[in-house]
Amino acid sequence: YIEGLKCDLYLPEVKTLDGHKVNLLLNIEINEELKTNILDISNGIGLYRTEFIYLTRGDVKEDEQFEILKEAVLASKGKPVVIRTFDLGGEKLSSLLPHPEEVNPALGLRAIRYSLRFKDFFTKQLRAILRVANFGDVSIMFPMVSSIHEIIQVKEILDEVRSDLKSKGVPYGDVKTGIMVEIPAAAIMADQFAKYVDFFSVGTNDLTQYTLGVDRNNEYVADIFEPIHPAVLSLLKMIKQAADNNNIEATICGEMAGDPLFIPVLLGLGYRNLSMSPTNILKARYVVTHLTIDKCRELLDRLEESYHKKMHYNILKMFMNEHY
Ligand code: PEP
Ligand code: MG
Repeated sequence: YIEGLKCDLYLPEVKTLDGHKVNLLLNIEINEELKTNILDISNGIGLYRTEFIYLTRGDVKEDEQFEILKEAVLASKGKPVVIRTFDLGGEKLSSLLPHPEEVNPALGLRAIRYSLRFKDFFTKQLRAILRVANFGDVSIMFPMVSSIHEIIQVKEILDEVRSDLKSKGVPYGDVKTGIMVEIPAAAIMADQFAKYVDFFSVGTNDLTQYTLGVDRNNEYVADIFEPIHPAVLSLLKMIKQAADNNNIEATICGEMAGDPLFIPVLLGLGYRNLSMSPTNILKARYVVTHLTIDKCRELLDRLEESYHKKMHYNILKMFMNEHY
């Protein structure tokens, strides 16, 4: 269905057939991914996975982090850049960083838990990000948050970093702060979290993993990993509802956001910000411009009437064949 794909690459806005604007953003791991015209045909960077700075280079000083991120922010020419703090731990380990041996690393000392445990290491990153915010539209986002207490701690540290930069006369910029909603606890408490942050970004890869209790990278249970499982859909609905009730933005940045099979489901749920791997942007553009929101809502109703996985995929495939 993407063969012979035709769409105007430089249309400034991507809209559904019935005129709803949809922002298509990039998930970036290294700056090399920005060396094409990909930023011209997208709405900015929705997820900059900073842990790859560590995973590809080893220990990185504040100034080096600053330079790497500055390059990405300048390349974005004023378009938004959402920088996620290190999502280290789990399967993402650096030999240069201390890490305990864990029996169950996916549930262990990873992401924000790791950053809060090693405060100097975290502070160095926050300093680099706040300094980079002076060069563009930068937001900061925290991975794997599971309690309000974590977000309160993070904000205290951010305040300390700001005061220190200020007292030393180091220029820095304003940032919006958000969380990844990727642990069911954060989804269930989305209404409370929304009072503490400026935006949500939903990590459906981990949200599916933790909701269904199925390893996202394990081939033996890959058939159970289902981002449109009724339980996941119901969390996605709650998150969007909480975001709307509290007037904050919600983006989807898990793999499903760039998948033509799932994009209509996300539009049906009300999401209008989709962040994806650069290789999916053209496909997503094509899909969005061939849909109406009413059709996407009908599709969602049909999915919700069925509890059978095979049926779900048949419904999605039929929809895809009908529309693109
Ligand atoms: C996710 O969990 O959906 C996500 C976007 O984060 P990562 O894939 O980097 O864990
Ligand atoms: Mg994740």
